[in-house]
Amino acid sequence: MSIVAKFGGSSLANAKQFGKVVAIIRADPARRYVVVSAPGKMTPGDKKVTDMLLDWSRCYRSGLPCEEIQQAITARFVEIVTGLGLSLDIHAEMAKIAQNLHLDATSDFLASRGEFLNAKILAEALGYDFIDPAGCIHLDREGRYSSDNGHLAAALKGRRAVIAGFYGSLPDGSIKTFSRGGSDITGALVAQAVNARRYENWTDVSGLLRADPRVVEHPRHIRLITYDELRELAYMGAEVFHAEAMFPVQDAGIETHIRNTNRPQDPGTRIVPDSGRHVKNGHATISGIAGRKNFTIIRIQRRLMDKEIGFGERVLKVIAERGISFEHMPGGIDTLSVIIDDRQLGDKLDGVVAEITRVCSPGRVTVEKEVALIAVVGRGMVHRIGASARVLRAIARANINVKVVNQGSSEMNIIIGVRNCDYEKAVRAIYRTFVR
Ligand code: ASP
Repeated sequence: MSIVAKFGGSSLANAKQFGKVVAIIRADPARRYVVVSAPGKMTPGDKKVTDMLLDWSRCYRSGLPCEEIQQAITARFVEIVTGLGLSLDIHAEMAKIAQNLHLDATSDFLASRGEFLNAKILAEALGYDFIDPAGCIHLDREGRYSSDNGHLAAALKGRRAVIAGFYGSLPDGSIKTFSRGGSDITGALVAQAVNARRYENWTDVSGLLRADPRVVEHPRHIRLITYDELRELAYMGAEVFHAEAMFPVQDAGIETHIRNTNRPQDPGTRIVPDSGRHVKNGHATISGIAGRKNFTIIRIQRRLMDKEIGFGERVLKVIAERGISFEHMPGGIDTLSVIIDDRQLGDKLDGVVAEITRVCSPGRVTVEKEVALIAVVGRGMVHRIGASARVLRAIARANINVKVVNQGSSEMNIIIGVRNCDYEKAVRAIYRTFVR
């Protein structure tokens, strides 16, 4: 069975990085399918080629001179092709792109050309076939991919190929890019289509971290995690690969392996489908901690709330009617709290509170602002007595007041609300308790 290897922008930023990628692919003949991003950043000051292409499109449309941008993009690719000693004519390729632009190509078309050219270059360097996803990743009118990827499977069958990431084609044949970072999705679709043994996602870090390195100093790497755990952590802000990229591979039961192009000897992070086998192997109670600040808790108190059918529904209707989605709704006998992300709430808080007060009369509605939510996630917590007690004890010992606690029904995550200003201290306290 084959391996699908996807390489991110920093792994393909210049000829030197390409050299590492070629060596990695050659090291295992099972790496038959390779998906690429556009050249990214090597240093924080660099610009991603995708951004340069988008600048070019904007400039052109505003009637501004574009030569400088076009030359800068050309220079990035010429450095790669020359450094690798390849024959691909970048100037001719760039002229074709410019010609399409004059013929009214969309900004999606332009944005996709970084992946298009990188795939052509890597295919030549490896002696693999080049595959343009415009011909085999078909999207619906809204730009969504379908789970029926027969075209893609047929295009890949029996080949060794480099596929450009980040885009597919709409029913009218025009190019449509995914959201930013979307080459991860292409990689997952290819892995699903060829029923890969593994989906390798090569990047510039040695895997996922157990906590945010801006909060916890030198956090450890996660060696193994399930897709369900990762979903919880990613939702709460842990930075991983594209959030949508996990669904095609999770559905197909394929493992994703995050690895570092610059340190291929590092073990990386394996993301596995949830199966009893892996759960038993996990001896760490907690896989990771993630969190975000700036939530608001709306608390509703009313006697005999528990006897009143439809009470919760009335509250949620007020929120839904204003186009707001909520995060959690923990409740007690006569209380109900709704936790909402401030980005959702915007300036609607006063209106929401007034309406809930009216609907819940004669209850009492109070508001708590500036709350941070911390997600403590671990398949090791399932059926383990005392895991949540340890989390709460760690926070109590750090002298932090807990505003709200919500345990997910899967028992795999505990959400704790603290004041924004206590967030970092709380995360560090939990980390110290569980990770040594
Ligand atoms: N090149 C695109 C971006 O910068 C897609 C990707 O790298 O995955 O977002």
